[in-house]
Amino acid sequence: MKVLTAVKRVVDYNVKVRVKADQSGVDIGNVKMSMNPFDEIATEAATRLKEAGKATEVVAVSCGVPQCQETLRTALAIGADRGVLVETDAELQPLAIAKLLKAVIDKEQPQLVILGKQAIDDDAGQTGQLLAALLDWPQATFASNIEIGDGSATVTREVDGGLEVITIRLPAIVTTDLRLNEPRYVTLPNIMKAKKKPVDTLKPADLGVDPSPRLKTLKVVEPAARKAGAIVPDVATLVQKLKSEAKVI
Ligand code: AMP
Repeated sequence: MKVLTAVKRVVDYNVKVRVKADQSGVDIGNVKMSMNPFDEIATEAATRLKEAGKATEVVAVSCGVPQCQETLRTALAIGADRGVLVETDAELQPLAIAKLLKAVIDKEQPQLVILGKQAIDDDAGQTGQLLAALLDWPQATFASNIEIGDGSATVTREVDGGLEVITIRLPAIVTTDLRLNEPRYVTLPNIMKAKKKPVDTLKPADLGVDPSPRLKTLKVVEPAARKAGAIVPDVATLVQKLKSEAKVI
């Protein structure tokens, strides 16, 4: 069984992003970029399937600027066998990414495709679902456990108020939730080995996809600044302020 994972290059989760002065978006110049955390979980899940003898090959795919190569190298260091870079400087929105991934999937014919449930930069949470619709494949979103059976997968999903267990027939799309696994620490020897693994580069035109954006960002603004707190000398003053100023009691 071939498994394909989709890995996005995003601003590292530790970076506090700033909105550009013209409010056209977030300033990503000179900030640390990393693999989207949910995609690390997806790559770890695929690698564990290979280590358990359930998968024969893991292919990681990233769409975007040439530097997405680095994201693919991280996926290869976690355990993917090869990478595919769909290179473009165009602004990519979830529908365009889903179309690009579909074109790669048509060529690669994987049995299982694992994506993150959401990219931490755009927070869209759409790509996996759009991809399943374009392929007309079953999907299991927000997975916290994946068991591979004979031509099927049993997936535990994190839903409001509990867990839901569903069985889907393969080929299928799965999106990862936080509790699916804890990705391994990428070691130096594995980073060195990853350098020798193959990465193919394609352009959207090679895949017959027009990635032009369909949505226009009108404005991006910083969240309202929180007012500074105040230290009160005693409980009596606190109660009095909650009554007269905050008017909550
Ligand atoms: P989103 O719908 O943007 O929240 O992204 C959900 C998931 O789609 C991510 O966790 C990735 O697995 C995948 N994805 C989104 N953008 C890209 C990209 N540029 N390249 C590869 N995979 C992507």
